[in-house]
Amino acid sequence: MTLEERMRTVRFQVDDRPHIVVDAGICKDCSVRVCVYVCPASLFVPLDDGGILFNYEECFECGTCYIACNKEGAIQWSYPRGGYGVTFRES
Ligand code: SF4
Ligand code: SF4
Repeated sequence: MTLEERMRTVRFQVDDRPHIVVDAGICKDCSVRVCVYVCPASLFVPLDDGGILFNYEECFECGTCYIACNKEGAIQWSYPRGGYGVTFRES
């Protein structure tokens, strides 16, 4: 299933309060950048200056980035507040 097909099976109620916060200062020293490869929604984008661009709005809430990241404190992770976040639909 392509990312586009996958995204058509979900909808998002976006909270203006991010449920995941990425510390750009810590990411600058990360050479592995595993988050880029493990996020099923491709929400981590590597920048030319060594940083990471992250957008929480279309997050599947799988937790993979938090588990996979090897830098303490780089990712602050929580579920969105009630009523917000992803809803999985039947395809
Ligand atoms: S989130 Fe973790 S794995 Fe991703 S760039 Fe930052 S420190 Fe590296
Ligand atoms: S929780 Fe899952 S979908 Fe959300 S940013 Fe992390 S890896 Fe990507």
